[in-house]
Amino acid sequence: MFDYLIVGAGYSGSVLAERIAKELNKKVLVVDRRSHIAGNAYDHYNEDGILVHKYGPHWFHTNDKKVFDYLSEFTEWRFNYHRVKTYVDGRLLPIPINMDTLNELYGLKLQSPEEVQAFFDGVKVDTGNPANSEEMVISQVGEDLYKKFFKGYTLKQWEIDPKDLAASVTARIPTRTNRDDRYFTDTYQGVPKHGYTEMFSKMLDHPNISVMLQTDYKDIIGKIEFGKMIYSGPIDSFFDYKFGKLPYRSLRFEHETFNQENYQSHQQINYPNDYDFTRIVEWKHATGQKSPVTTITREYSLLAEEGMEKYYPIPKEDNHELYKQYKAEADKLDDVIFCGRLADYKYYNMDQVVARALMLFEKKLSNTHQE
Ligand code: FAD
Ligand code: UDP
Repeated sequence: MFDYLIVGAGYSGSVLAERIAKELNKKVLVVDRRSHIAGNAYDHYNEDGILVHKYGPHWFHTNDKKVFDYLSEFTEWRFNYHRVKTYVDGRLLPIPINMDTLNELYGLKLQSPEEVQAFFDGVKVDTGNPANSEEMVISQVGEDLYKKFFKGYTLKQWEIDPKDLAASVTARIPTRTNRDDRYFTDTYQGVPKHGYTEMFSKMLDHPNISVMLQTDYKDIIGKIEFGKMIYSGPIDSFFDYKFGKLPYRSLRFEHETFNQENYQSHQQINYPNDYDFTRIVEWKHATGQKSPVTTITREYSLLAEEGMEKYYPIPKEDNHELYKQYKAEADKLDDVIFCGRLADYKYYNMDQVVARALMLFEKKLSNTHQE
């Protein structure tokens, strides 16, 4: 009945569903276990009327014009540079570390990128090619800034010594010698003007696409006919954990609404050393929503146990080895395409997931069908 069964209505599943339905004119069934589309990017109006991201802050950013143009077919944007402050030694300082961070933290008067670079050169540790998340940071900014801005946050987020975590994790946060206080420097940054869920519903609005929610794909196998499968769930679960379980980090969100216009100065404040949560997000800063009340979300990280949502693959050598065993099995299956943050066990951003789905469509699907 369906040409494709697509597991997961997040970016991976929805982009591929849209492409296949529209470009190949094939029938697609998208199933998701959750009660909504949009995967981890899902947003909704809470009981206080504030638009919140259910699964933690999602700030879209990309340099990839193709990805931006593609998503722009389904949404207008609220362009907004993402700025974060971090609470260190009782003060709110800019992160990524930049000239102002150093001046405010140490009472310095550095005025040029050369002076800032000279400061970093004086404190950085020669690690050779950084082999882990600790070396990645100390090789740029030295021990003190590492301890104040990175060590505590990384321990809270991953519960793993940064020495045992891949360098790519802390490499996500750059170091700046100028006063640029944007979290990302990408060309395109913001949030969909009417929210992520609205963008996904436009993407999936096609007569060739059927969506089935609150359904585990395992419950419909054998009951529904389909040709190929596209799978964006956890890869270890697909293979019934036959090589063992891949670890993931989960999150606990604490939402609170205040009867006041604003709660904090920025859309996101990180807490590397104080409290048990990693960050507090105030949604209205990012969405531009006007309301006399405001909602904030505190985020606590924990290891995903049975039944919990899996949010982050854990970038660590032994996990990668285990993933490779599953990947080898996945490569043997001609009729199943694995795609996404959980299926590829990779710490992808949204734009990377979209780029990968578009690439898979062009390389694997459109060619096959044009033959
Ligand atoms: P998902 O969105 O996880 O979708 C997979 C879907 O598959 C889920 O809806 C799940 O319910 C479904 N599924 C799984 N198993 C089954 C099953 N057995 N049967 C049926 N359905 C199933 N990226 C950014 O670019 N910027 C950010 O600021 C940002 N912030 C983030 C903050 C947090 C807290 C998290 C967790 C991620 C963040 N990301 C961010 C990353 C972004 O969420 C992902 O890159 C993107 O959502 C991945 O899309 P996906 O389709 O691969 O996976
Ligand atoms: N990080 C940190 N201090 C910060 C921000 C980030 O130590 O103030 C480290 C931490 O290890 C974190 C990683 O950098 O997990 C990536 O941060 P990012 O903000 O990209 O995390 P995400 O939004 O993906 O959770």
